[in-house]
Amino acid sequence: MKNIVHLTTLALVFAAHFLAAQTTYLHCGKLLDCASNEAKSEMTIIVEGNRIKDVVKGYAKAPTDAKVIDLKSRTVMPGLMDMHIHIESESNPKSYEEKFRQNPSDVAYVAESFGKKTLMAGFTTVRDLGGSGVNVSLRNAINAGLVDGPRIFTCEKSIATTGGHADPTNGVRKDMMGDPGPAEGVINSVDDAWQAVRQRYKNGADLIKITATGGVLSVAANGLNPQFRQEEVEAVVAAAKDYGFTVAAHCHGDEGMKRAVLAGVTSIEHGTFMTDEIMQLMKQKGTYYVPTISAGKFVAEKAKQEGYFPRVVAMKAAIVGPQIQATFAKAYKAGVKIVMGTDAGVSMHGQNAWEFVFMNEAGMPPMEAIKSGTVTPAAMLGKSADLGTIEKGKLADIVAVQGDPLADIKAMLEMRFVMKDGKVFRNE
Ligand SMILES: [Zn+2]
Repeated sequence: MKNIVHLTTLALVFAAHFLAAQTTYLHCGKLLDCASNEAKSEMTIIVEGNRIKDVVKGYAKAPTDAKVIDLKSRTVMPGLMDMHIHIESESNPKSYEEKFRQNPSDVAYVAESFGKKTLMAGFTTVRDLGGSGVNVSLRNAINAGLVDGPRIFTCEKSIATTGGHADPTNGVRKDMMGDPGPAEGVINSVDDAWQAVRQRYKNGADLIKITATGGVLSVAANGLNPQFRQEEVEAVVAAAKDYGFTVAAHCHGDEGMKRAVLAGVTSIEHGTFMTDEIMQLMKQKGTYYVPTISAGKFVAEKAKQEGYFPRVVAMKAAIVGPQIQATFAKAYKAGVKIVMGTDAGVSMHGQNAWEFVFMNEAGMPPMEAIKSGTVTPAAMLGKSADLGTIEKGKLADIVAVQGDPLADIKAMLEMRFVMKDGKVFRNE
């Protein structure tokens, strides 16, 4: 008898668990579902648990046990997606010495705060393009619900060549420099490339990032030169394919960029000196372009400030920074697939939405800019079934701003409501 009672109780507990999936009705004054190009007025999104159960016309009446959220004075859209950030760090004049003082646990606490800022700004999904490995732990902690932050897809540690952009010991005193290898993401051969990709797999990365040319913030002379041989980039792409990884390639100069596109990388990051020929190649191969105009503007501005960057970095920042927005304008006109990304970390976290303003400034209409930060990145990540639009069956990543971003893109800076995975993190 006791057993039967026990089983009945258990059954009830199970039933309660399934019934407990909270239903929420979101009454949306204006809805940009990003599946279409139009704004829809007076719509209701019905969320059950962590998924969108339905999207219906009008302000649907909710059953008594459902929650209602009033967004009648807001513009509602899919959770925003920034496809180039560095969650572990943020620019400041002391950045270069910080790495000698911070333990991984220190990095973890600041990374958590950056993740929170990013989520509150309406970015429910990000691609983290390079850190130390704390990024993987933060992703896991967020996924486990231990801390608040965006959905993270991370490359763990960028792959570079000796002395190249993202060699972790660049600019360091010789006796501390050592000779980092594939385990630390530094390669010098085809075999090294395979080993480095396999190590990222072992370390829990979601994708691969390479620094195909020099970069601005590394303490190294050249910000533009090619830093991988053709066969090395090809090896990275081939290894990544075996492990189901996409490949993001940091590029400023044209030669390294062309090699990366020919090798079949998924996206070009920054793309500063992209030529017409490369734009055509990218269109042929379906390569995405993540411009990071925000970072370009930020470093160009800081380069003018004496002592903010080391001298060699300031010189590169002044050349590369101001160019990116113009390159974006050309690539957009040429029809290259654009994905929104800021390089936040190089610039400030939580300011991500300015990228939409900068893209709009350079000729991209607001609706297209918003789609480059929602539906297009979802496709690039291979996550279109779950993310990127507000449609029946997708994960409930939903945000809302004050004002009408189609009339004035700056409304993207006025974030008021953030739901990720069906959970409300912000509602004003
Ligand atoms: Zn970056």
